[in-house]
Amino acid sequence: MRQTLLTTKPNSDTVFQLPTSSTSPRYAIVGGGISGLTAAFRLTQLVPNASVEVFEASERLGGMLCTSQEDGYLVEHGADSFLKKLPWAVELCEELGIAGDLLPTNPVGRRALVVRDGSLHPVPEGFVVLKPHRMLPMLLTPLLSWRGKLRLLRERWIASPKELAEADYDESVASFATRRLGRETFERLVQPLLAGIYTADPTRLSLAATMPDAIEAEREHGSITRAILHQANQKIPPGEKDDSQESGVRYASFVTPRNGLSQMIDALAKRLTAENLHLNTLVQSVTKNENQQWVVQNKDGTAHEPYDGVIVAIPAPSAAQLMEPVDTELGCLLQKITYASSAIVCMLFRRDQIAHDLDGFGFVVPAVEGSDLIAASFSSVKFPGRAPDDQVLIRIFFGGALQAELVDLPDEKLQSMARSGLDDLLGVTGEPLKVDVVRWREKMPQYHVGHVQLVDSIEQRVADLEGLELAGNAYRGVGIPQCVRSGNEAAHRLVASIID
Ligand SMILES: Cc1cc2nc3c(=O)[nH]c(=O)nc-3n(C[C@H](O)[C@H](O)[C@H](O)COP(=O)(O)OP(=O)(O)OC[C@H]3O[C@@H](n4cnc5c(N)ncnc54)[C@H](O)[C@@H]3O)c2cc1C
Repeated sequence: MRQTLLTTKPNSDTVFQLPTSSTSPRYAIVGGGISGLTAAFRLTQLVPNASVEVFEASERLGGMLCTSQEDGYLVEHGADSFLKKLPWAVELCEELGIAGDLLPTNPVGRRALVVRDGSLHPVPEGFVVLKPHRMLPMLLTPLLSWRGKLRLLRERWIASPKELAEADYDESVASFATRRLGRETFERLVQPLLAGIYTADPTRLSLAATMPDAIEAEREHGSITRAILHQANQKIPPGEKDDSQESGVRYASFVTPRNGLSQMIDALAKRLTAENLHLNTLVQSVTKNENQQWVVQNKDGTAHEPYDGVIVAIPAPSAAQLMEPVDTELGCLLQKITYASSAIVCMLFRRDQIAHDLDGFGFVVPAVEGSDLIAASFSSVKFPGRAPDDQVLIRIFFGGALQAELVDLPDEKLQSMARSGLDDLLGVTGEPLKVDVVRWREKMPQYHVGHVQLVDSIEQRVADLEGLELAGNAYRGVGIPQCVRSGNEAAHRLVASIID
């Protein structure tokens, strides 16, 4: 059995001494998103004499990290920032020499707004996704009725289910939030804040896979409120922030490179030689030859070989197709991870076209409002340098698991829906200076209830395939830091397994 656990810190300076019979190993990475490129970078660090080739289906690297810059605007077409509390992406930026370019969010207006009855209101101070850190703002907010507030106050006396004690306990985020905080707090705060992150159906979204600390909190303290009180009585370690000072999304904890997230991709790409980069190359199969070495075959039938190891860093359904010939059961398991699509309309306005104060970083729309919009991000308010000072760049999100059909609407229809949403909520007048529509079809993995066990089973099967590893957002976290970690860990496991 080969080694599957990471035994060294991913970013440590460890350089592996390979046996002399394999002094120039060849590795292939399938998928040139942040996960695959991190894996490629890590392999070149761990095994400096290795040849590392990247196969990417599209004409560019980066996957969902895609920045464009022109005439003083910087538009993120996909992700726009990452959490620095999870260290892996920041550590990667340090290694790539671009950590000095990481920008924090604007210190003014670090909060999200929420729609209620067609008006915008700030997320109550101290409310972070499932946790009401401060009760007074919860009691004063117009986002909840008195009935909803009274139900929230009862949280600490709500009994927990017996099954909570089971090690692999899971339930949907909707069920947990409704059970503990009440239906109204779920519908008016938890659902819209999570929709902006996971674009998921909360009645299927796994609590264990997305917020395991909520399960721990209930197990240990019997209540979220009591867990928060317990935490408040603990001394906050130096360097850590008091959660009660934040609200909605932890904006103070997000950073992004000055030139956008593509700056990370460019820095990673620089570490690869041009001949080792295969763009416009859709990989169709990954199999073994008669010498038990790996063969990577393109859609056009070209076979690349031999490789000592392969890291597959593409969405799970595509990985399933690649894996089926090698391990049918693994293919079936990977197929079980489904994906959601979304569309983003980017609009640029002159500041004087917008009546609203824009005193937040954007807004989220509860599904119960019956709107087409999921959320909007005031990109140029959130980060400096995204638009000239007298203009505002706004990204409006559609689709996700709950409104999948909207993603296929024509550009003009999405634009007019975005416009009417902004007119109503922000008082926008006149035509936008620029408009851009991007669709991310089947790109966001859905961590449904049972996801943790599903990924455990996938990892067990992969562990039996010597020289093969999986990485990417499908497994143990969708955020950029978790994707970086998955690339790091896949590289470490691959090298360790070949040495074993
Ligand atoms: C709209 C949106 C906004 C987001 N915002 C944030 C955010 O602000 N912060 C954050 O932390 N996270 C965010 N995320 C999540 C995060 O961006 C992604 O989870 C992460 O970028 C995924 O990286 P990846 O490398 O695993 O996958 P991808 O980016 O999907 O990369 C996979 C690559 O593999 C290629 N590929 C696929 N099949 C094949 C094949 N058969 N052969 C060869 N190549 C193939 C694809 O073309 C692609 O380039 C967002 C996601 C979306 C959709």
